[in-house]
Amino acid sequence: MKITIVGTGYVGLVTGACFSEVGIDVTCVDIDEKKIENLNRGIIPIWEPGLEELVHRNVKKGRLHFSTKLSESLDDVEVVFGAVGTPPDEDGSADLKYVLQVAREVGRHMKDYLLVVTKSTVPVGTAEKVRAALQDELNKRGSDLPFDVSSNPEFLKEGAAVSDFLKPDRIVVGVDTDRARKTMERLYKPFTMNGHPVIFMDITSAEMTKYTANSMLATKISFMNDIANLCEIVGADVNNVRKGIGSDSRIGKKFIYPGTGYGGSCFPKDVKALIKTADDYAYNLRILKAVEEVNESQKSVLVTKLNKHYNYDLKGKTIALWGLAFKPQTDDMREAPALVIIRKLLEAGATVKAYDPVAMEEAHRILGDKIEYGQDQYDVLIDSDALLVVTEWPEFKFPNFNIMKKLLNVPLVIDGRNIFDIEEMKDRGCIYYCIGVDTQGK
Ligand code: NAD
Repeated sequence: MKITIVGTGYVGLVTGACFSEVGIDVTCVDIDEKKIENLNRGIIPIWEPGLEELVHRNVKKGRLHFSTKLSESLDDVEVVFGAVGTPPDEDGSADLKYVLQVAREVGRHMKDYLLVVTKSTVPVGTAEKVRAALQDELNKRGSDLPFDVSSNPEFLKEGAAVSDFLKPDRIVVGVDTDRARKTMERLYKPFTMNGHPVIFMDITSAEMTKYTANSMLATKISFMNDIANLCEIVGADVNNVRKGIGSDSRIGKKFIYPGTGYGGSCFPKDVKALIKTADDYAYNLRILKAVEEVNESQKSVLVTKLNKHYNYDLKGKTIALWGLAFKPQTDDMREAPALVIIRKLLEAGATVKAYDPVAMEEAHRILGDKIEYGQDQYDVLIDSDALLVVTEWPEFKFPNFNIMKKLLNVPLVIDGRNIFDIEEMKDRGCIYYCIGVDTQGK
């Protein structure tokens, strides 16, 4: 079986590499010439556990190819996946420009029946727009080639993308013909033989499922952050509250950890896009509007604590940051809370020194010389007036506190991920703040 994947970003590259791993012949196409040139030289554009080995192995086996030319990548292909970006437009809606460009290009160059699958996260109604754009190009050619469209939203998590793809919780596929359903069944069989289900449904429901999943997860995060802020005020410990509710199987233990707010390339834009879809249909999605509002203010919570500690005078202070990526195990900084924290610190006249195990290059690309970059997690503490823990990388969890105290001007630690123990930090002589517990009042 031969397939083509258009858009070689997080989703496209992982999807392509994983399909090639089970023996499918895959061409990954991208308009970014540098990215394709690098991939053809074995250079992987993103940091994702297991991806580099997977790509190298399958390129060597001759099953994974990279190209900038979609028009030359359609011969004998049965399925074309669109995995291009759907960034937010000015009004929050998903910008479908790239998705529809791909549909048109496929329409201009397809030579035989094709199943055109949208893997990008797209709002309800997109499959119909893809169908219309593609049909329009076929009409211009005077062609009556048949094709089907399908919606196959992707649920992989950055940082665990390869294992999520190879062992999915579920695969959601929206189809409206038997032919499309059979092709998708065949394609995903290697991943579903161990019991991971493919859930077939109508296309509109598949489009809606992806936004609903991300919005539900964002809701859990904002809900818990809101509760954490209340815990601080009423004198409760959110860590206890979390354990207390998480053991209820209806609630579950995941996604109820309070922190500095959600970020990344998906939750912020997908929540906005679903709110916009509802607005377009004259429905007021009140819960999600509140989720977004809580998240925006939560990104500033560490700076608020720091400001309170220093009487709203951060001018001339040096602040160390541990963690820049929006979550551990990725170098992705899109919509990362660290960016809001850094902006606020710089606006207040502070100097920022930061360290992240893998996102230093990406941070430099975005922030340039606005901040200082450490060699390691201790380097940034030298002469700093506080440490802010922004991303919960495992290696930050058991630091050498004696070295930390020696290097910091003031042993002030503001922990945005509750990775340290409150009593232990007190015993070590640290001034310690975290999320959802009034550590100074206790
Ligand atoms: P990305 O920005 O990493 O990659 C998109 C790629 O598409 C880029 O390399 C870009 O150059 C390429 N591209 C754009 N227009 C093109 C065209 N006309 N032809 C060929 N290539 C083109 O994006 P991503 O993170 O992989 O996300 C892609 C989609 O998947 C989005 O809709 C996103 O919401 C969704 N998604 C992302 C994740 C994630 O964790 N990143 C998870 C699930 C779903």
